[in-house]
Amino acid sequence: MTVARLVRSLLLLCCFSAGEPTTANTAASSSGTAKSSSIRQPTWGTGRQNRHADIRPRHTTATAQRLLADYYAGKLRPALPAAVGKVIREASAQQYAWAKPEWGRYRRRAVVLADPAGAGEFAIWAWDIVPEAAVQQALRVLSGMVGELAPDIRQRLVSGVQPSKVALFKRPEQVWTDIPEHSIWKGTEFGANDWLSGVGGTRAVPVSSSDTRNVMEAADDPYREESVLVHEFGHHIHNLVLPDCVARAADVAHAHAVASGSYSPGRYMVSSVFEHMANGAAAWFQGTCRSDVNDGIISRPRLLARDPTLFSLMQYIFTPSVARMRYRSLCPACSTKWSPEAAVPLLEPGPPAPLIKLPLDQCISAASSWRPVPRNAPDCSDMKSECRARAIAGQCDTHPDMLTLCQLSCGVCRQVSSSPGCLDRNASCFVAASVQGRCQSDAAGMGPQGMGCLLSCGNCTAARI
Ligand SMILES: [Zn+2]
Repeated sequence: MTVARLVRSLLLLCCFSAGEPTTANTAASSSGTAKSSSIRQPTWGTGRQNRHADIRPRHTTATAQRLLADYYAGKLRPALPAAVGKVIREASAQQYAWAKPEWGRYRRRAVVLADPAGAGEFAIWAWDIVPEAAVQQALRVLSGMVGELAPDIRQRLVSGVQPSKVALFKRPEQVWTDIPEHSIWKGTEFGANDWLSGVGGTRAVPVSSSDTRNVMEAADDPYREESVLVHEFGHHIHNLVLPDCVARAADVAHAHAVASGSYSPGRYMVSSVFEHMANGAAAWFQGTCRSDVNDGIISRPRLLARDPTLFSLMQYIFTPSVARMRYRSLCPACSTKWSPEAAVPLLEPGPPAPLIKLPLDQCISAASSWRPVPRNAPDCSDMKSECRARAIAGQCDTHPDMLTLCQLSCGVCRQVSSSPGCLDRNASCFVAASVQGRCQSDAAGMGPQGMGCLLSCGNCTAARI
């Protein structure tokens, strides 16, 4: 590995968003504006990479990695820790010393429906200066992610002592520390990184943020080959929403990923459990088309192919819906400006990390009946030898026959219940049953009275299995 490549590989993803754009997007990436900063500019190598030096974060890898790890581990302290309560009081009074009158008010702009019972709230906050279109786009993305959280985990999102938020800020008028809850970092080494496109929420400050340029995939956004919002909300779920036993499973999955040697050395995705989870969520929701920070793990089939243990954890946290939220289809410019999946290389520096069983059994309660079994389902298999290659190329989303012929590689196998014979016979069962309500019809694929989808239709007892 060359020095330039090593530097590139170590540069950080969105919370410290850095790194190079994907090759296919190079031409579109060169129109950014220079930002003033006193932080030393990194070495960018030669040739194409230098074209982006003007819009890339000025930061050293070691410093950024340290700050990032300390921030998410809760070790980074604001200059005035007591200011957290002060900021919250000021929020209600709308008194911020740094705020400019033209920003308007910092206020709740939209509510994400995270709790049908209405017992809690998860909201998007922003100043008036943030365009409504950005709020609505963020609402679409977050609703898609929240809607796929397993019900018991989704409930935790709205039941925290402090309400979780996602806050948007508008570049270039604002920086991330202009989010009131994050203003506690002003005047610190961490807060000096005003190029950040967003940060994930932590237990200390349960607020994730994103630059609206990224939300709207604006032409001058340096990180438009990835969704900062999807990545940061991945952090949010990990840091704030997962039960402790699931978080411990995340630690196991990360340690296993590192020990397996299946990632390129120093790859940002495995630099910490936090980035492992956030990049895993980005892959799960197709929230990136980069390969430099994640070895090209940009989709569910690729995650399954390279890191099936993390896949199984994502499968535990999110429902296994075939019709999942796909950021690539949802964002304003991805369908035309992002590289096709087949054009994003999947780097395979070693054999895939073998699947290990995570200690999730202890997490399963009455409210959580989900048991992820990504590879061992008796009726889950690939029927064609080319399934893996086609899945990695993104064909699970574009070729309907893939979900029938290549269930294993596409990662759409349903869970296996405790009853060996209680299975779904078709990959579409979950969506057909839970979204379309087709269990009582005799529609194709469901069988008489949904008997082809015993598990999704809840007919295992009726089948006396
Ligand atoms: Zn991150």
